[in-house]
Amino acid sequence: MNFIYELKSFLFPKNVLNFDTASPVHPTSRGIPVPTSKLEQGTKTLVRSAEICPTRAMRILSDSEVQFDYGKCLQCGMCTEVSDGSLRDSGFIYTFALSRDELKVTYKSGRMQKVTDLPFPLTENQQRFKELTKKRGFLYREVAASGNNTVESELNASFNSVFDSEREGVRCVASPKHADAIVFSGPVGQNMAGPLETAWDVIAEPKALIACGTEAVSGGLYALGKLPKEPDLYISGDPPRPDVILQGFRLLMGRFSFRFQEALHKILENE
Ligand code: SF4
Repeated sequence: MNFIYELKSFLFPKNVLNFDTASPVHPTSRGIPVPTSKLEQGTKTLVRSAEICPTRAMRILSDSEVQFDYGKCLQCGMCTEVSDGSLRDSGFIYTFALSRDELKVTYKSGRMQKVTDLPFPLTENQQRFKELTKKRGFLYREVAASGNNTVESELNASFNSVFDSEREGVRCVASPKHADAIVFSGPVGQNMAGPLETAWDVIAEPKALIACGTEAVSGGLYALGKLPKEPDLYISGDPPRPDVILQGFRLLMGRFSFRFQEALHKILENE
């Protein structure tokens, strides 16, 4: 059976995801919630949405302003359902960034506050990692740190013939001693903080720590545990799709020019 799938992929290469034409908005995914024009009338209609949000990803700042921390958002759609049309599911799934703050977005009277002039420069470590991996890709050790294995399912899928992680030179290895990066999932419970730190410590520099999934980025439904350091890449989503994970990796390697807030702003303004 495997042989048939392999042969089909070989004969019909169009089934392999084309990174250059892939869109941050996915037609069948719920994606992140965004305000509609109805919010021009004020944020009162969002009180119930903010209350119901299980991760407190949404905060009402004033009568006209609301903030979403998409690093906390599970993309569950619950806030949209009770918003009386003030929110909608955008289908925007590229919720990844090199800086945690970039995933926090404020909307005023329903319009996203433009933030393109915010610097978000690369850290020295991100710059060194980019130089190391831009041409050759990287090897990573995955650490399941108290998660529910959904991220691991998506990471497994990233190696199938549709997403084909290996064409980017990105592979998973058994030992952190052979790895350039750690990809971890889950909110890092007490019992996993030590193993995560040990795995991190044995990797030679430059190296990258990658938070994969909403729980790894912010804790999600739980408190986020102790990390060895600030992650170099944040990939939110519960879980993120394989293409989102791979585009995040490509961003870290400097092969994909992407800014979360810029991309979201562009899409919302053009709708
Ligand atoms: S976690 Fe769910 S309820 Fe909260 S902002 Fe995200 S989609 Fe809305």
